[in-house]
Amino acid sequence: FSDFAFEARIAAQSLVDSLGGLARPTLRLGVTGLSRSGKTVFITALVHALLRGARLPVFRAYAQGRIRKVTLEHQPDDAVPRFAYEDHLAALSGADRRWPESTSRIAELRLVIEYESAAGWVSGPRTLTLDIVDYPGEWLLDLSLLSKTYAEWSAEAVAACRHPARREGSQAFIEALGALDPGQPADETTARKLSDLFKGALAAARIEPLSFSALPPGRFLMPGDLAGSPALTFAPLDLPGGKEPPAGSLAAVMARRYEAYRSHVVRPFFRDHFARLDRQIVLVDAMAALNAGPAAVADLEKALDDVLLSFRTGRNTILSSLVSPRIDRVLFAATKADHLHHTSHDRLEAVLALLVDRAKRRAEGLGARVDVAAIASIRATREAQVRQGREELAAIVGTPLAGEVIGGERFDGETEAAVFPGELPEDPAKALARAGEADYGLRFVRFRPPAAATGADGRAGVLPHIRLDRALEFLLGDRLA
Ligand code: GDP
Repeated sequence: FSDFAFEARIAAQSLVDSLGGLARPTLRLGVTGLSRSGKTVFITALVHALLRGARLPVFRAYAQGRIRKVTLEHQPDDAVPRFAYEDHLAALSGADRRWPESTSRIAELRLVIEYESAAGWVSGPRTLTLDIVDYPGEWLLDLSLLSKTYAEWSAEAVAACRHPARREGSQAFIEALGALDPGQPADETTARKLSDLFKGALAAARIEPLSFSALPPGRFLMPGDLAGSPALTFAPLDLPGGKEPPAGSLAAVMARRYEAYRSHVVRPFFRDHFARLDRQIVLVDAMAALNAGPAAVADLEKALDDVLLSFRTGRNTILSSLVSPRIDRVLFAATKADHLHHTSHDRLEAVLALLVDRAKRRAEGLGARVDVAAIASIRATREAQVRQGREELAAIVGTPLAGEVIGGERFDGETEAAVFPGELPEDPAKALARAGEADYGLRFVRFRPPAAATGADGRAGVLPHIRLDRALEFLLGDRLA
């Protein structure tokens, strides 16, 4: 961010936030992670735990009975959609309990927490306003575009499409690229077609079996409300080196749209939303990457590194020393730990710690506290010992989603099953090195939300979880001390 005006606006907004914060302490918590990492489920579980209660022994303010009252309030930013908490909760409970609809754009929710301060001369009733900001992690990867020209980005993106692992999914795009001349006159149909083919190549790399993560531009996979706009209708081209594209050419139009994307989409997001966060949780579906293989693991590591790069840049702006420093705590959380037996939870945490290690040390050098945790926002399984022959095996029991196949049996979404999830190796390096191996023994079955999520009155009951309280303590604990 070399642009002074851009930074000045971030600083002005921070100042406004700080002044507002003096009147009433406010904490802006960002919740991010790549698509399907569990953001929607996490926020729903967090809000429900605060509003309706849960078992949270590690979350001190709660366990000590100092949280008096929590209420939902109108959010501060009128232009941002509200997080549809009530709809998501309704989806999780009741007879047809199912997982809620995932995050596809930014959303916000405000909670006001009335609590009793614990310590000494400051004890007494207080309030903390908690603004939760949910946004796709894909958007953070766009930060890398701010330092690249269209030509530089084009060269990288085209090379990535030609990578052997991605060749099949990128074939249509690469063929179309070969059939055109970047200097040819621009026309909308060609631009749109090429852009669609490029988006198709990105989407193919995102899904199984590849499960790649670091695939900017972020809005090509998660367009939010901008789908179809010209700023999202561009693609990289095979450009001849060193030459300016002639005016009116396809290359010139694509380059202009790339610029529009950077200035009308990427910068406003970082300025208006990201730069204003105080705390951040990054959810990671580490098990999906472990299942997919070493290329997906390497790619996830790169994506996490890129994500942390944005935290560093966020704190490092010229004017950031003048205003209160922002993001001071980052939690990386491996989600869906309920897919593993509890003996593997610490191991999953160790795998994540290793994945973010490099990025973590960098962020800590800048004064932000970084932690990792393996959690399940909503625990869909319980544990059981199952006898197989002479052996007692640790199993997890849950209701597989309709259509899941285990040991040749197809499940109907109503019947419970005991699954042996396999064990992560004790050495996290080994776990990463063996990612994707067929004899690895890890089996991930997708389960329905737990029946326990529905209370006696048919509404959502107390939601079971794994280590959600640890996440809450790290993210909020000191502000409720
Ligand atoms: P988002 O795209 O980041 O908003 O992801 P979601 O919160 O919608 O989660 C994606 C899917 O992951 C859900 O539909 C669930 O199938 C699964 N999931 C998320 N959190 C959990 C969890 O705590 N436990 C289990 N078993 N599954 C989860």
